[in-house]
Amino acid sequence: MSDYATDKNPEVTMEEIVALAKRRGFVFPSSEIYGGLGSTYDYGHYGVLLKNNVKNEWWKSMLVERDDIVALDSAILQHPKVWEASGHLAGFTDPLVQCLGECKRRWREDHLREANVEKGGNYDDPIVCPECGGELSPPRNFNLMFETHMGPVADDGNAVYLRPETAQGIFINFKNVLNFARKKPPFGIAQVGKSFRNEITPGNFIFRTREFEQMEMEFFVPPAEAQQWWEKWVEIRHNWYLELGIRPDFLMIRPHEADELSHYSSGTSDVEYLFPIGWSELEGIANRGNFDLTQHQEHSGESMEFFDQASGERYIPHVIEPAAGADRATLAFLVDSYFEEEVEGRKRTVLQLHPRLAPVKVAVLPLFNKEGMPETAREINTALRKAGIQTEFDSGGSIGKRYRRQDEIGTPWGVTVDFDTKDDGQVTLRDRDSLEQIRVPIEGLPEMIAGKLAEPWQSPKLDQAP
Ligand code: ATP
Repeated sequence: MSDYATDKNPEVTMEEIVALAKRRGFVFPSSEIYGGLGSTYDYGHYGVLLKNNVKNEWWKSMLVERDDIVALDSAILQHPKVWEASGHLAGFTDPLVQCLGECKRRWREDHLREANVEKGGNYDDPIVCPECGGELSPPRNFNLMFETHMGPVADDGNAVYLRPETAQGIFINFKNVLNFARKKPPFGIAQVGKSFRNEITPGNFIFRTREFEQMEMEFFVPPAEAQQWWEKWVEIRHNWYLELGIRPDFLMIRPHEADELSHYSSGTSDVEYLFPIGWSELEGIANRGNFDLTQHQEHSGESMEFFDQASGERYIPHVIEPAAGADRATLAFLVDSYFEEEVEGRKRTVLQLHPRLAPVKVAVLPLFNKEGMPETAREINTALRKAGIQTEFDSGGSIGKRYRRQDEIGTPWGVTVDFDTKDDGQVTLRDRDSLEQIRVPIEGLPEMIAGKLAEPWQSPKLDQAP
């Protein structure tokens, strides 16, 4: 494995990803016509399809491939006492330092110290502003929760917060689920939704934003089984990224050092990806003990105990939490799949995405707009769509240009209707990665594509590696 501190993904820069995302309509800077709003982004058509596929794969791994997890969609606005109990009101802070020199920029003190360590220094060495070298203010704890007010009058009595994580919505529904879902530990509750953090230093495109989507699951277990379930979940979540095509050398599990652990956690491991900014967290898998349920029991007065009728035992379950970010995962899939090569003297940019993640599965292309080709292509397009396969019909411009466009959005297959189609009932199927073109019958095309989508897949870059 490579050197942790100095490594960066050598294949693509963040600028290239941002440019492709904008050019092809994946992600746009938000409020652009008004000059943009710091580090907020809007997802365009292909971005929505890609992120939906990421979330669907997550849901599928939680709800379809196993039967010990149920779904939840809790409110973004919750009783302020939730955040008192969880510790977010008092402790969800980052240490903010401000440059007292020329540039007046604000920084996260812990990030500056970590950067110092990466350069070979010590964590406690004196630090100065990395921008202008100015002196830095003493650190001030800055709460990351966005505060707003419920009702027409804004006063202290009606402050509410945009949730900074989806997890607490799960804990406060633990008893509801226990009573109505006919589950007993070990079982999990999964949720996907928006979270909000007033980050001091957002940036690096959709890696760190102030509004983002999380995919979190709280797995409630008998206390004695916590360690073993934690280890299992670290492995399950690591494998999820691998199965979706992230290359093993670009992914690692990093156990937290003792001084990094949250006060309630007896173990946390991050799944990290080698982004163009270096190794960074994709997902954290924490053994949270019974901290959250105990806190809510104390603050709400509601018992969070589980009574096991079989053993006669009564206990507050321990919790294993895999907490992932949908936007960060989407970024990792974009980075890992980005590939440039020269084909017949021209640069080809392609997203070699796992076909199940690709926004569009099949591009349906009439070679020319004549001799019945567009009509046949439309029929094929309709048949594929009826089978639930996301397609794109494109009849404009040269076929080469149309292929290149589909390559850039990661479409795994192109189906071209040509002069021979009306005689032999066949079309040309082009493979995005091998560039192989074969003739296949129109009859049975949806089934063939569905079959391909169900196959295991690995990144073609693994074959290209020296
Ligand atoms: P970081 O150390 O990067 O701030 P964290 O450890 O605070 O992250 P968690 O609270 O564990 O993050 O959140 C779980 C996941 O949610 C993260 O692994 C990440 O994928 C995602 N996430 C957290 N904060 C953001 C953000 N500001 N923008 C995008 N995704 C985020």
